[in-house]
Amino acid sequence: MGDLSDMIGATESMSEPNELPESDELLKQLEDAKNRIQELETRLSSESRQHARAEGQLEVTPINEADVTLRRLVQRIAMILQAEKIAIMFYDRERGELIGIPPAYGIEEDRLSLFRVRATQGVSGQVFRDSEPLIFHDATNDPRTQKDPFSLLHVSNGITVPLVIEKRDEENRVIERTTIGVLHAFNKRHGEDFNDEDVRLLERMARNVGSIIANLQLYREVVEEREELLQTFESLAAGLMLVSPEGRISQINASARAIFGIDAEALGKNYLDVIRDDNRDQLREVLQSAMRGDENISQDIIVNIANVERHYQVQAAQVRSDEGKDLGVVAIFIDVTDIRMIDKMKSSFVAMASHELRTPLTAIKGFVSTLLMDDGFSNEERREFYMIIDQECDRLTRLINDLLNTSRIEAGESLKPNYTRVDAKALLEKVVLIQRQSTHKHQIKLDIRSEIPKIIGDEDKLDQILTNLLNNAIKYSPNGGDITVHAVVEDDHLLVGVEDQGLGIPKDHQAKVFDKFHRVNNEDNRRIYGTGLGLYLVKHLVESVHMGKIWVESEVGKGSTFLFRIPIEIDIENAKAINH
Ligand code: ADP
Repeated sequence: MGDLSDMIGATESMSEPNELPESDELLKQLEDAKNRIQELETRLSSESRQHARAEGQLEVTPINEADVTLRRLVQRIAMILQAEKIAIMFYDRERGELIGIPPAYGIEEDRLSLFRVRATQGVSGQVFRDSEPLIFHDATNDPRTQKDPFSLLHVSNGITVPLVIEKRDEENRVIERTTIGVLHAFNKRHGEDFNDEDVRLLERMARNVGSIIANLQLYREVVEEREELLQTFESLAAGLMLVSPEGRISQINASARAIFGIDAEALGKNYLDVIRDDNRDQLREVLQSAMRGDENISQDIIVNIANVERHYQVQAAQVRSDEGKDLGVVAIFIDVTDIRMIDKMKSSFVAMASHELRTPLTAIKGFVSTLLMDDGFSNEERREFYMIIDQECDRLTRLINDLLNTSRIEAGESLKPNYTRVDAKALLEKVVLIQRQSTHKHQIKLDIRSEIPKIIGDEDKLDQILTNLLNNAIKYSPNGGDITVHAVVEDDHLLVGVEDQGLGIPKDHQAKVFDKFHRVNNEDNRRIYGTGLGLYLVKHLVESVHMGKIWVESEVGKGSTFLFRIPIEIDIENAKAINH
């Protein structure tokens, strides 16, 4: 294309619209130019062939160069035809209109978008449809031009030729012709009129215009396609990284950049230089095995993002071109943190549940065997053994009920609420009293700060909520301390807080403790057995059964306060609709 602009540049002296030489010299130059055109035509059409061939291979001229070339070509056409104005109209398929597009000559660009006509009307439409040129000498009175927007541009005479894109095969045979619009030359200078020679010239030059436009269009398509691909790549939730055979990062999307805490600057650098030390070895192992051509590579890596551990499954594969050339490796990073967490929770649940089942069973079996073996126990002793067996049976029942209720909630079934008027104050006192008996290490206090009216609720389930929270407060304060149950009425709601001075819950676990099976797995907690189902059930009982809210405020090493807030006058119909 560089050649093309140079060649056209040969008529540079004629190119400035405002510095036209006077008539004699102009005629001479015109003659020269016409001869030169012949020569140019031959070379230009070989250029077009090259374009056509290039189209097949998607090798296109950079857009700016082609844009400039088209602009200059339009200028040259004006010079050669001695036309005051040159306009290109492009066919807009959606609108069914021919619309003026830049570049133009002798026309302000903002007028171009107004320069439009239906593709079925006027000279423009006729030329577009028939793909045959037309010449008109009196635009104002010619019936053919009445529908063309020519008055907008003060057109008096002109030539309109079709703009055609030709697709050629390897042997340069035209395999497809598409008319994409029309090319106009308006108002011959010096009061003259266009003639058939001008028509022939404009037709030839239209072919070159068509070829450049085709090239531009193709380029835009390629750019758009690339852009689309990059955008898709960029917006993928999974991390994606392409590494060249030399180890340079040739592509890395936003998710992968976030995983490794690097910015777009990393592009082109060796991945070993930009990936953090702690992930480098894991990644190197995966990528190198992909580079060696190993298949089905999938490995977990653990990345620390903002002090939170995340697990990514890395899948890597070698990339080869159609010809088998090694293009490097592609690695995909999928966030499997939650899946791994569930796996871990499941196995620890199984361990915990077995323990929770075995402990009461061992006690029951032990006491029953003792009772069977030896008859020398006093009535009092026997009674004590039976009480222990009874308590252990209750413990088993609680555990089994928790499991059953969890699976009911999971299956979307309700826990069948039974709403009555409940004396909340009496209930609080009862639960506190019972829990006091289960611990000597803790001081359990009740702090009622306002008159507590009777509320509408399910008494058993309110009992379960309070018992569970108090139980946890005791369980997770292994060193004892005060446990206070606060209650107050606020805006038609009962607010209850169970405050302890125990282990506390780290910030990033505070919302999760209400998830099923979630247990804080720190050194202190490991020795405290549980299934991780209690708070999950409590949350359901507060939020679904009592239309309330539950949350926790806590500081590690200082203690926790579990708070819940439920309406005093629950809308039973609404609550039932939700729970049935
Ligand atoms: P479980 O006690 O059976 O593990 P829960 O659902 O009752 O199950 O509690 C989930 C987790 O929340 C517990 O494992 C514990 O880590 C944490 N937790 C609950 N209550 C407290 C509390 N009062 N203080 C500190 N941690 C608590």
